[in-house]
Amino acid sequence: MKPPIPVNEPLLNGNEKKYVTECIESGWISSEGPFVRKFEASMADYANRKHGVAVCNGTAALELAVAALDLPPGSEVLVPSFTIISCVLAIVRRGCVPVLVDSDPVTWNMDAAQLESKITPRTKAVMIVHIYGLPTDVDPVLEIAGRYGLKVIEDASEMIGQYYKDRPCGSFGDISTFSFYANKHVTTGEGGMVLTDDDALAERCSLLRNLFFVPNRRYVHDELGFNFRMTNLQAAIGLAQIERLSELTERKREIGRHYTELLSDLPELQLPLTSAPYADNVYWVYGIVLHEEANLDAPELQARLVDEGIATRPFFWPMHEQPVFVRAGLFRGESYPVAERLARRGFYIPSGMALTAEQRIRVAETLRSAIRA
Ligand SMILES: *Cc1c(COP(=O)(O)O)cnc(C)c1O
Repeated sequence: MKPPIPVNEPLLNGNEKKYVTECIESGWISSEGPFVRKFEASMADYANRKHGVAVCNGTAALELAVAALDLPPGSEVLVPSFTIISCVLAIVRRGCVPVLVDSDPVTWNMDAAQLESKITPRTKAVMIVHIYGLPTDVDPVLEIAGRYGLKVIEDASEMIGQYYKDRPCGSFGDISTFSFYANKHVTTGEGGMVLTDDDALAERCSLLRNLFFVPNRRYVHDELGFNFRMTNLQAAIGLAQIERLSELTERKREIGRHYTELLSDLPELQLPLTSAPYADNVYWVYGIVLHEEANLDAPELQARLVDEGIATRPFFWPMHEQPVFVRAGLFRGESYPVAERLARRGFYIPSGMALTAEQRIRVAETLRSAIRA
């Protein structure tokens, strides 16, 4: 049998090894080392933001962002149902109330047209989450947020190096967040960052990240903070990755375009949108959705692929169907049909940076015969 194709494998063939070796030789392995500042500066630079605050993962970045905004307890925050739990747990942990919005069936992003009907006098913020490679249509969301005085958090974890119109993802709203998990197209293994233009917000993020030590007297604390620090070792890898950002995003696009070419004649499949009027897909992952006409659902097809050595991952499971939230009495009786359908009929195929053209061809051929089997 041919060797299995993993769902993700990173490319670490730039300056990663050199910079990590520098950390080890200099002894700077903690968060105090110089690569952390450099990595923060280069991310802020890419996204035209004033400040970057590096943290230990993307979930921590979201928790930090929501905590930094200091929304009054009970504030409602608009967020898509079709997303990762990190978004909603950051809201809930802060004593705020997530209010869900369904997605667009074609872009898979939060449907801005449904936002306004969800706004109440308690709504204080909206969380934009760009999904799988195509950004959310940001301008209508910003317009509504401006009209109602809502804070805006942008989760750009899946969009590093992507643009909305001519503006970089990670540049929108009050505060933006990133993840650098191993499957993100800029990785530090585990890692995350918040970006903002607001000096006071950036200062709050730095304090919250580091146990809220007050600046002039260590071991004195004004608020409950977190230890969300990123190590110099992680930042060293991140800096080496960012140096090649355009090469990495171009590679993602090449993988996505190739898959589309190989799969577009299969009527059973809905493929990722190649482009929208505001962006070309960067294909963070290559997601596919099985049309109802296909005689099988996503788990069945995934099982057939695994038997042939092709790893896949399911799509997100909607937030209103999460056991932990249902048990807590959240989202009772609510239904978001697009999110529900995507979760049941969608999954993604191997999409990592190291994926070769031969592997893509094998994935596509296996997929074709598995659907028709
Ligand atoms: C990956 C991801 C996260 C979580 O990042 P971690 O580093 O795994 O904690 C948050 N939001 C989105 C949209 C993601 O894709």
